[in-house]
Amino acid sequence: MTTTEPAPISLQPLGIIHTPYKQKFAIPRQPGLVSEAIGEIRFFSPFNDINCFRGIEQFSHLWLLFRFHQVQERGWKPTVRPPRLGGNQRVGVFASRSTHRPNGLGLSVVEFVSLKTDKGQVSLQVRGMDLLDGTPIVDIKPYLPYADAHPGAAGGFASQAPQPVPVRFSADAMIQLEQLSPEPDKMQRLIQAVLAQDPRPAYKSSQSRPQSFAIRLDNLNIHWQSEQNRIEVVGIENICA
Ligand code: SAM
Repeated sequence: MTTTEPAPISLQPLGIIHTPYKQKFAIPRQPGLVSEAIGEIRFFSPFNDINCFRGIEQFSHLWLLFRFHQVQERGWKPTVRPPRLGGNQRVGVFASRSTHRPNGLGLSVVEFVSLKTDKGQVSLQVRGMDLLDGTPIVDIKPYLPYADAHPGAAGGFASQAPQPVPVRFSADAMIQLEQLSPEPDKMQRLIQAVLAQDPRPAYKSSQSRPQSFAIRLDNLNIHWQSEQNRIEVVGIENICA
């Protein structure tokens, strides 16, 4: 039997997700690790129709299928080096959750928060996503615990969630946060949860000397330092300033 190669498939984005993650650096590596992060999907016509979502509030969790749009032009390779293996061991692309993959599709379970309609715009609020701001969403499906949850499943080289790293804030950073954020407590919890995931590249996290980094969350630029297994937020500024 001969196999004919099928024609390429094109996808139509349903909408775009808006998240606090304005750059790739420091986005959690999987969903559910930072439940403080809330995102909003805004839909385009013809999906901007409340009927498309009827009954969705009965599900606590949803699958999002999306496009890794920011790395599309970099293509893919048969093997990748997952950060969980220290970034120097190769596995097959299909044995990984790498962003560099054929078709560039991502898959994340997120928590349903709410569904709203405002001036004809339908939006879906979700929690705990691992998606860059502006990511195109290509499908949404309810998460079915009886079919999708496998508590005894083998997780290969990523069998456990990463151990959180302790994060503290300097006195200056706390003052800046109070001045710059309309909801400083919420923002502090978000920053803490994001940094506790230790966003340092694998090769840098093995270095013991102090290192400085910055991440962007919402409209804030957050400066932080790491030394061995500790992280300190040392300064916060408004990006629009
Ligand atoms: N849970 C999804 C999956 O398994 O398909 C994504 C896993 S992937 C390892 C998560 C990372 O993708 C994030 O840490 C972020 O760096 C990156 N990412 C998220 N949204 C992206 C986008 N739109 N374009 C490129 N990279 C993105």
